[in-house]
Amino acid sequence: MPPNDQIAYPLPHPTDFTKPFWDACQDQHLVVFACAGCEHLFLPGGSVCPKCWSTDLSVREVSGFGEVFSFVIYRRTYHPAIPAPYVVALIELKEGPRLISTVIGCAPEKVSIGMAVQIQFEAEDGFMLPRFTPQDSAPTHKV
Ligand SMILES: [Zn+2]
Repeated sequence: MPPNDQIAYPLPHPTDFTKPFWDACQDQHLVVFACAGCEHLFLPGGSVCPKCWSTDLSVREVSGFGEVFSFVIYRRTYHPAIPAPYVVALIELKEGPRLISTVIGCAPEKVSIGMAVQIQFEAEDGFMLPRFTPQDSAPTHKV
């Protein structure tokens, strides 16, 4: 197996439905999908609103604040570019939608359900990824 620095970080492959989300991330903006039919906000993007099936969708920028809804600590390295330990967390945004991300900026053992977090974008191989950090340790989001 080659050393870690020769194995690329596994990056997202945006689809037609998720491209607006990833494009916004590259500009360090967090967006969710919004339904014009029922005002439902959701992630990930899709072809229809998961609540009312409307196809009248747009994207809306959100605050980047939320809380840890659930999480796990990975203590085994499954990908050489992502060494353990690390946290995989389901983040519930203040606006409602949830997304899977990670919590950085603190030891994995400090993460807890209900912990207040905020967005912090970080680049992997030049691609900006949305990650979350405890609110009391994060720089102010630029929104
Ligand atoms: Zn809807």
